[in-house]
Amino acid sequence: MAQHNQTLQAIRGMHDLLPANSARWQAVETIIREVLSSYAYQEIRLPIVEKTELFKRSIGEVTDIVEKEMYTFTDRNGDSLTLRPEGTAGCLRAGLEHGLLHNQIHRLWYYGAMFRHERPQKGRYRQFYQFGVETYGMASADIDVELIALSNRIWQRLGINNQVVLELNSLGTIAERLVYREVLVAYFTEHLAELDADSLKRLKSNPLRILDTKNPAMQTLVAQAPELSTYLGAESLAHFNILTTTLDALGIQYRLNPRLVRGLDYYSNTVFEWVTTALGSQGTICAGGRYDGLVAQLGGKDNTACGFALGMERLMALIDLADNLANIAPVEVYLIRVGEDAKLHGMKFAEHLRAECPTLKLQVDCNHGSFKSQFKKADKSGAEFAFIIGEDEVNNQTIAIKPLRTKASQFVLPANAVIEFIQTHVTAEN
Ligand code: ATP
Ligand code: MG
Repeated sequence: MAQHNQTLQAIRGMHDLLPANSARWQAVETIIREVLSSYAYQEIRLPIVEKTELFKRSIGEVTDIVEKEMYTFTDRNGDSLTLRPEGTAGCLRAGLEHGLLHNQIHRLWYYGAMFRHERPQKGRYRQFYQFGVETYGMASADIDVELIALSNRIWQRLGINNQVVLELNSLGTIAERLVYREVLVAYFTEHLAELDADSLKRLKSNPLRILDTKNPAMQTLVAQAPELSTYLGAESLAHFNILTTTLDALGIQYRLNPRLVRGLDYYSNTVFEWVTTALGSQGTICAGGRYDGLVAQLGGKDNTACGFALGMERLMALIDLADNLANIAPVEVYLIRVGEDAKLHGMKFAEHLRAECPTLKLQVDCNHGSFKSQFKKADKSGAEFAFIIGEDEVNNQTIAIKPLRTKASQFVLPANAVIEFIQTHVTAEN
C-alpha cells in the first residue's frame, strides 16, 4: 500500500539553501559579481540541460565526468540529454551558435547549478554551484594572468587571501603531451604492480589522468614519475614564462606543481588551481586554465579560450571557517503597530519608507500580538531598531524608535524626520 504520510526528502547530495544562510551566499555572490564587472566581464545565461553529445565531445569520453558522473536521460522525443556537469561546454556551444567566437574578443561569466553523480561527502555534492569565467579570442599569456589576478582579487575582497595558495602548471601543446604520454606509459608499465584498478584502466585510455589520482597509496609512485615540463617546446615555455614573470611583477604568489593535470581533458598550456588545506581533501576551491583546442574540437574555427570555475560550496565553507560575513542581519528595522488605528496608518508608513529608502530592510509585524510579544520578535529578528506606532504616534504624527542593539533608550521623532534618521543611522553605508 502506498505510504502517504512519509516525509519526502531531497535527493542525496542535493541541498536546500535555508534562509539562515542565504544572506551570506548573497553577500559573497554580490562581491564576486562586482569584481567580475570591475574587470569588464559580462554575464551570459545558459540552459541547464544540453545534448549529451556536447559533453562527450568537449569534456572527453575517458574522464570521470563522462564515464560515470553525468545525469543523462532520454526526453519525450527520444533525444539523449544531460544536466550540465560544468559550464565551459555549454558556453562554447552558445558562443559558436551565436557567432561570438569568430574574430571577436569576449570576457564572460555565468553562475548556476552543476550536476555530477559523485559520492557525496564534505565539499563534494551532486548538485553544486559554480561561478564560471570564460574568455575567447586572446592568445597572449596576459589573459591567463588577468584571470588569476581577478580570482586573487575575489579572495582579497572576501578576506580569505591568506588561506588559499595558487598552484600552477603548463600542459604544453597536444603534440608535446603525446610525446610525454609515451614516456609516462613506459614509466607506469615498469611499475604495473603498484597501480590500482582505476589507474590500470587509465594507463590504456588516458595515462595523464593517473597523475590526478586521489588514492593516497599511489602518491609516491606519482611523485616519482617523469615530469611533463621536460617535454615542453620553446613556445609553450615562453608562454609559461610570461605568465610567471607577470605574476611575479604583480606580487601574486604561486607554487609550481608539475603534477597538476585537472580532471577534464580539454586543457592546453596553462592550468591552475586555488587550493586550501583548511577543508580536508576537497581543497580545490577554484580551477581553470587554457583550452585553445576545444573550439575546433566542437566544430568551430581554431580559436583561443581560457577560463576558470569557482565552487561556491567550498568557498562558503572556507569563509565560514574564517568567520567572515557571519552576521548579516536580514532585518534592519522592525515595525511594531499597537492598537486599531495604528494598523492601516503603520502599513501606509511602511510603504512610504520603502519608496523613499529602497535599500532599507524593513519588516512589518503582521501578527497583531501584544506590544510585548511584538517587541520580543523585533529583538529576535536581528533588527537594529524597532519603530513603534501606537495611538499617540498616530495622533501626533510621530514615530517612537527603540535601539535594539545598544542600551540607548527609546525616543520619539516627528514622522517627517524618519527618512533622514534612516539615511544617517541605518542605510548610511549602503
Ligand atoms: P575535483 O578534483 O575536486 O573533483 P574537478 O577537477 O572535478 O574537482 P572542476 O570540474 O574543475 O573540478 O570544477 C571547478 C570547481 O568546482 C572545483 O575546484 C570545486 O571547487 C568545484 N566542484 C567540482 N565538483 C564539485 C562537487 N561535486 N561538489 C562541490 N563542488 C565541486
Ligand atoms: Mg571531480
